Amino acid sequence: MNIDSIQNGVVIDHITAGRGMKIISLLGLDDTDLSVAIIRNVTSRKLGKKDIIKIDSMTDVNLDLIGYVDPDATVNIIREGVLSQKLTLDVPEKLTNVIKCKNPRCITTTEQELPHIFKLTDKNKMEYRCIYCETKA
Ligand code: ZN
Repeated sequence: MNIDSIQNGVVIDHITAGRGMKIISLLGLDDTDLSVAIIRNVTSRKLGKKDIIKIDSMTDVNLDLIGYVDPDATVNIIREGVLSQKLTLDVPEKLTNVIKCKNPRCITTTEQELPHIFKLTDKNKMEYRCIYCETKA
């Protein structure tokens, strides 16, 4: 893919250097047939070094999840070769099947079909708790 001229797709910019791979795996981008490029350790005036991810197609991946890894990243949606939308990220209020509860007595360990849901309980500390047993993530 020509990463400089995306016609329709998503560019995730200003990722703190080193977190790009984490975002790729969190969004499941390492496990799709989408055309995905990661550019690591790009020199940035603002951040020193940053990572950039480019996805060369429209995708229904849950971009809100990026806020869990790096709320300061920016998401640009490109349509017909022009920037059509800039998404601002926030720390997600709820994580479903992103992290697993580690409490062996949690209902999610016995009820395998239950989704693992965590709620944000402290935004400044990025603290999440299991909605079933309130164990910290
Ligand atoms: Zn739990």
